Amino acid sequence: MRHYLSKIIKKVLGFTGYFQLYGVPFKFLPLFNYAEKKRIWEPGGLLRGETIFDELTRRDVPYYVHDSAVNDETKLARLTADIEAQRIEFAYCSLGKLDALMHAAGTRDPSVTDLIHWYDQEVRKLIATAAEHYEEVAWYVFTDHGMHDITEGYDLIADIEKTDLRWNEDYVAFYDSTMARFWFFNDGARQTMTTLLSNHPKGRILPNEELNTEGVLFEDGMYGELIFLINPGIQMVPSFMGVKQIKGMHGYHPQDPDSASSICSNRKLPEGLTKIHQIYHLMHKELGISD
Ligand SMILES: [Zn+2]
Repeated sequence: MRHYLSKIIKKVLGFTGYFQLYGVPFKFLPLFNYAEKKRIWEPGGLLRGETIFDELTRRDVPYYVHDSAVNDETKLARLTADIEAQRIEFAYCSLGKLDALMHAAGTRDPSVTDLIHWYDQEVRKLIATAAEHYEEVAWYVFTDHGMHDITEGYDLIADIEKTDLRWNEDYVAFYDSTMARFWFFNDGARQTMTTLLSNHPKGRILPNEELNTEGVLFEDGMYGELIFLINPGIQMVPSFMGVKQIKGMHGYHPQDPDSASSICSNRKLPEGLTKIHQIYHLMHKELGISD
C-alpha cells in the first residue's frame, strides 16, 4: 500500500529523487519536509548548494551518471557503452545491490561473498574497457558506508511515549532505524527528553561538539535539535523507516569498526582521506578544477 502510494505521491508532486513513505505515520507527514525531492544526481538536485553535476554541466564536461531506477547490470552496460563510444570524460556510477543484499541477509551470508566477486569481475571489465578507449584513466572504487549485523531490536518510541510529553505540543520526533531526532516547543520538554535520553542504556545523545567534528552540525536544527544515536547492532523497531527487524543496518557512529568504508584507486590516495565528503575534492582534482 505504502509502496504504491509513494509512487503516486512522487508522480503528483513531481519528485524525481528517491522517494519512499516508509513507515512515517500519515498524520505526521505534514510536519516534515522531504530533502530529496529531485534526483540528487542531476544539476539542481539539492535544496541547498551545488553538486559536482552542477559544475560538470556548467563546464560542459560530458559525463555519465547512473539512473537509480535501473538495476546494476543495466547501469554497468550503459556506462560501458558510453566508454566504448568515447562520449564521456567523467563517470559516476552508484551500484545498489550490495547495500540491499546486506540489509536483507547480513554481512556474513555466502551470497554477499558471491556478489562481491561479481562486482570484482564487473569493475575489472569496466576498467579494462576504459583503458582500451582512453589514453588516461583514473578510477576510484569506494563504498559510501559500512554495514552492521543487527543483533537486537529496541522500541525507543515506547520509552518516549511513557513520558507525559505531548506530540506536536511539546515535541516532534523523527524515528530513523538508528537515530531519533527531536524538535521542541518549550524548554521543559527539552529538559525531560534530555534527562530521559542522557542515561539511556541503549544509546546516547550526540553532543554538538561531536556533531561538529563529524561535519553534521546544522545550527538551525534543520535535521533535529537533539539527536539520539542507538548503540551499534541495535535497530530501532518500530521506527518511521519500518516495523520489521532486518539483518543489516548502517547509520551508526562513524567510529564503530563496522561503519568503516573502503576506497581503492589506481592513483595515490591523499593522506588524511577519512570522510566521504572528501570524494568531492578528489573529483575536483581529477577534473582539473582544483589541485
Ligand atoms: Zn542501505
